[in-house]
Amino acid sequence: MIPTVGYLEERFDTFNRMCFDGALPRIPVKLSRAQSFVGRLQYRPVRDWLGRTVRYEDFVIRISTRFDLPETEVEDTLIHEMIHYWIAWKGLKDSSTHGRLFRAKMQEINAQYGRHITISHRSSPEELDRDTRIRTHHVCVSQLADGRTAVTVCASTRVRAIRRVFALSPTIRRTTWFTTVDPWFNRFPRCRAPKIFPVDAAELAPHLPAA
Ligand SMILES: [Zn+2]
Repeated sequence: MIPTVGYLEERFDTFNRMCFDGALPRIPVKLSRAQSFVGRLQYRPVRDWLGRTVRYEDFVIRISTRFDLPETEVEDTLIHEMIHYWIAWKGLKDSSTHGRLFRAKMQEINAQYGRHITISHRSSPEELDRDTRIRTHHVCVSQLADGRTAVTVCASTRVRAIRRVFALSPTIRRTTWFTTVDPWFNRFPRCRAPKIFPVDAAELAPHLPAA
């Protein structure tokens, strides 16, 4: 699904009640066309005259509409950002971006509500490289007519359908399909629809299977 602001605001209120005792003040939830992340929390530190951070303000959650994700993944992404918000708003100090506090809250919510929130959402390149979970990926690398290289990680049930569309696409010159457990591919969304994500060919090269 591609979420709307109204949908996300309603979900925010629901998860706030369910998972955070309704403690979180409402903040703007905005849509983004970003390809580099699915969800992101932004905020601004307020400093005292010594330059020490005393609190955070201007919280905004941004959710990308670039990815057609299953509804549960959209919800998990929103809750993920809400955990970041909860930590920053309460002024808690975590051991890292997704440190002990973050993981404890995430595991508590996953266990209580049977959710699958992860720390692998697409955000900064450093965060992406820290995602080392082993999962099986059905990958298509496309050479585009304009010379670029693109990656598609397909939902396993959609490989055949997406393959068919790509074979007929005038923008795709050549495709290579393979299955891999390389965690580098964790950074791409699992596509249920034919979508391509242009990548830096040099960055991709070490992750291609040996010819
Ligand atoms: Zn995060």
